[in-house]
Amino acid sequence: MENRYINNQNWQNFLLSQIGKYDVFSLFSQDDADYNYSRLTTQNLNTSLIGKYRSTIPLKSFFFSSIEKIVPLSSKKQRIIIGVKACELAHLQLLDNMFLGGEYRDPVYEEARKNTLIISADCTSCKNSCFCSIIEGLPYPTSGFDINLRPIQNGFVVEILSEKGRKLIDNNKWLFQDTIQNHLDESERNRTEVNELVLKVNKDFKFAKLLNEVVKPPKADLWKEVAKECVECGGCRFACSTCYCFLIGETKNFEKYRFWDACQFKGYARVAGGSNPRSTKEKRYRNFYSCKMNYRKENFGSYACTGCGRCIEVCPAEIDIRKVLTRLSE
Ligand code: SF4
Ligand code: SF4
Repeated sequence: MENRYINNQNWQNFLLSQIGKYDVFSLFSQDDADYNYSRLTTQNLNTSLIGKYRSTIPLKSFFFSSIEKIVPLSSKKQRIIIGVKACELAHLQLLDNMFLGGEYRDPVYEEARKNTLIISADCTSCKNSCFCSIIEGLPYPTSGFDINLRPIQNGFVVEILSEKGRKLIDNNKWLFQDTIQNHLDESERNRTEVNELVLKVNKDFKFAKLLNEVVKPPKADLWKEVAKECVECGGCRFACSTCYCFLIGETKNFEKYRFWDACQFKGYARVAGGSNPRSTKEKRYRNFYSCKMNYRKENFGSYACTGCGRCIEVCPAEIDIRKVLTRLSE
């Protein structure tokens, strides 16, 4: 993969040069523990961050927002999102499969994807809830980005993957230098360290090789026990970047909107006649795991969980998907 080096000062200059040309979104933090995206301006430029790990709000909000107008279609300004992490790029791949991969392409999602350039970044640490490395992932991107930043001392190794990304770098080439072997060696060491950290944080969790198989047997008692704690708030589904269920509503003047739905809500699977194939909490809870680990693996070839850990953080009942998957694997 083509790469360059940029130092921290030139990175700031690069960001400055993009404001106005694009809507630029970057990560910011109040406490250096949790990150969220905000629009980059000349006023907040100095406090923008690449982020040590993923944001609190899921990336899907940029492409499939909690409520959005779908008819009539409105065009979106070109934008750059900076600081996207590996687990989120994997989320995006899963959303692409859903919204663009079949016979019908979703025009709202497609427009949002087309107008977005993604500058991702390696994780330099992990949260206690992160478990990418134990569920087919890594804490650094290998695909799905336009440009990727590998933080090293005083700057970044800049990996260029797409044509869009290459054009952006070429248009600002005086800010970038050739990489030297020391840059790459340092970056490789960082990657190994963070991966080891994720493995260490998750040393107590052991998943079966085929999670799609372990969710198949009914195991009614287990689902009952886990679901007992669930308060059906839907937070885990809304926080999850691979959950894409939605409802559609229409206004008096025939504008159509869609808004997120969650399979843990009681009315989710209820049909017009009143019958509900997932009438109990445990049936709905099991469906969540079946959808993530089995149905999507069968239909799209990968689990719909990338180990971002947001559902763990958001759950008021403190249900931890890693504990459930470990129990299912026993
Ligand atoms: S789950 Fe992995 S890739 Fe995602 S933020 Fe955590 S360490 Fe980074
Ligand atoms: S199920 Fe939980 S850990 Fe997995 S991708 Fe969704 S929010 Fe992240």
